Amino acid sequence: MRVIVLGSAQDGGFPQWDCNCINCRLSRSGKLNYRLRSSLALEDDLGNIIVLDASPDLKHQVSMMKLSYKRIGKIISNRISPIDAVLITHAHWGHIMGLLEFSAGAPFKVPVYCSSYVSSIIQTSPIFKSLVDGNFIRLIEFKDSFPLEIVNYRDQKTEFVLEAFKVQHREDITDTYGFKIFHNDFSIAYIPDIKVLDERIVKKLSDVDILFFEGTFYWDDELWRVSKIKRTSKELGHIPIAESLSILSELNINMKYYIHFNHTNPVLRGSSDERKNVEEAGIKVVNDGLVIDV
Ligand SMILES: [Zn+2]
Ligand SMILES: [Zn+2]
Ligand SMILES: [Zn+2]
Repeated sequence: MRVIVLGSAQDGGFPQWDCNCINCRLSRSGKLNYRLRSSLALEDDLGNIIVLDASPDLKHQVSMMKLSYKRIGKIISNRISPIDAVLITHAHWGHIMGLLEFSAGAPFKVPVYCSSYVSSIIQTSPIFKSLVDGNFIRLIEFKDSFPLEIVNYRDQKTEFVLEAFKVQHREDITDTYGFKIFHNDFSIAYIPDIKVLDERIVKKLSDVDILFFEGTFYWDDELWRVSKIKRTSKELGHIPIAESLSILSELNINMKYYIHFNHTNPVLRGSSDERKNVEEAGIKVVNDGLVIDV
């Protein structure tokens, strides 16, 4: 199985379009890498590729990571979906807008796994509903903590099993889930957006092999520190790294990564004290394009 990090920034990407903070300036001058919106691709041993969250950068992520490269030569026509299924954590725009890309392609009926709440958001929005009506996607609803075998767009079983579990994030327009994806006896957890890291969640994470966890902000008052904006990390639905770090450092997980960074986050700078704190706790700041073969 292969894990590919398609993007590692929060919904606004990095740099953020309207911002001139130190991190955004460094990225525009080439001293920090641009980051696309958070998303992972997982490829099983049969070549099935599933994508976790459909970011607005989906098209570029697919091209840059050459997701369909193994399929070239196997196809009859020149149209093929490079993605077998999409799993949506929640309906905030940075996690769902990429679905619209499918409408530019053939009607592959790509399976889209989501909660019943997100399914209803898709079906009641004329723009998103056209994806379903046009057979570009088909919706498959998951239930809380109920294992589900993932199928590809040809309706064949992949080697992946999904366990989605509900998390607290920002209950404005959507509910939110974290994912555990199983491939044989190997498992990956992906939780890009979460506000509360309680015992129930810690238990879910305790036996995974790779963890990708919410790292939007380092400080609860980071927006005030950097941009003089009076909104805290928690008000926006994100547990700050300063709070999650000690809890995650205790977990006996092989590979631990923070993901979904806001442009203000000091861990984006390799020389910052905050980056040092994260690395000393045995956790990494993930970069776009990371490939892990397991
Ligand atoms: Zn997000
Ligand atoms: Zn900025
Ligand atoms: Zn969100």
